[in-house]
Amino acid sequence: MRYWLFFAAKLAFGALLFTGIWMGMEAFLPEPATIQDVKLGRFGQDLTWTTAIFVYFLAAAGALYVIVLDQRYRCRTCLRRLRMPVNVGAWDKMLRIGKPQMEYICTFGHGTLNVTLVNFTGEGDNWREHDDNIWRELESLSAGDRK
Ligand SMILES: [Zn+2]
Repeated sequence: MRYWLFFAAKLAFGALLFTGIWMGMEAFLPEPATIQDVKLGRFGQDLTWTTAIFVYFLAAAGALYVIVLDQRYRCRTCLRRLRMPVNVGAWDKMLRIGKPQMEYICTFGHGTLNVTLVNFTGEGDNWREHDDNIWRELESLSAGDRK
């Protein structure tokens, strides 16, 4: 839940930022010229506005891409960036060893993300949450020492 709230907050911030940029463009860019009572349109007829809208669109699309990309490589539990990418599988022995994947891990042990490098069937990323078995085993060992 926290993961999706963070994603929604980033999207809302991006929408707010680009709404502000659009309002700034409307405030500072000159209106298109009027020729004999015919007002030219902003997009496609006025070069300044057309260029500004192209740049605005590219910046907005790039920001959306960065937001989604950043969210993809975050831990689903603690929202920290996933670290330590490791290649898993093999390109030349795909049927025996497995499809090539990049495996990322949360440094606090919450889970592992497997990103497939070959995507034949449209399957997405595979997030596996880790149990805290290691910690339970350690606690049981230390509890066993005390008895
Ligand atoms: Zn984590």
